[in-house]
Amino acid sequence: MSVSETDIAEFAAARARVLDRIAAACRRAGREPGSVQLVAVSKTVPAERVVAAVAAGLTLLGENRVQEAASKQPLTPGARWHLIGPLQSNKARTALELFDVIETVDSLDLARRLDRLARDVGGAEEPPAPRAILLQVNADGDPAKAGLRVGELEAALEEVATLDALRVDGLMTIGRLVERPEDARPTFRRLRELSVSLRAHHPGLGSELSMGMSDDFEVAVEEGATIVRVGRALFGDRPPTDRGRAPSIAQPSRPPTR
Ligand SMILES: *Cc1c(COP(=O)(O)O)cnc(C)c1O
Repeated sequence: MSVSETDIAEFAAARARVLDRIAAACRRAGREPGSVQLVAVSKTVPAERVVAAVAAGLTLLGENRVQEAASKQPLTPGARWHLIGPLQSNKARTALELFDVIETVDSLDLARRLDRLARDVGGAEEPPAPRAILLQVNADGDPAKAGLRVGELEAALEEVATLDALRVDGLMTIGRLVERPEDARPTFRRLRELSVSLRAHHPGLGSELSMGMSDDFEVAVEEGATIVRVGRALFGDRPPTDRGRAPSIAQPSRPPTR
């Protein structure tokens, strides 16, 4: 595989720009810039470009499909991976093998299954180290959206606390599609407040907050995001066939800001 030096330089510059914007948002909020992890969302990006991105320092990658990650991972030693898309139960075992963090645990059934499987894929360690997950929260109560309802979280946390093979590092949400980044702020604030109030009674819940994407990650950081998931601002626009957010709806086509 040929890795383009031009791609590496382009991704190093894009990475520096996004990290600068994260740092500026942290300063506005009185936070440490090091308190935010950048997940580079490489879905639909061809493997050779992902290899260049890793060479440019984007070593934490996010994919929304298990199969796509499986095809890219052998080419990118040294990278760590987060699953950020819906996980079907028949792919749960493979997901545990491929991903360091599964961000999209959106039901108790899925959590129970991951817990059972984690005991098998845990390897030699006895008992295996717990596997990191985030609970995906439907913070807006959007009927079209995956994720646990706010009202379900207390009970879910009580049960997940009994699943020894899992470690709940925190909460994840996908914001509504909004016209202006500022419109996403209430959702992000709600997730942070939820996290604070839940952690008061559920010591097993970690403090990670995965929220914010290319169009609104700065607002998310101002509201406390510890993980931002950024695709287009690093890799450029995706083809319109992407089954995730269609760029045509509210995201005008444009190259990453230089
Ligand atoms: C695609 C995707 C992202 C990245 O979106 P961009 O707008 O390209 O930054 C983040 N989170 C999830 C869950 C996604 O599916």
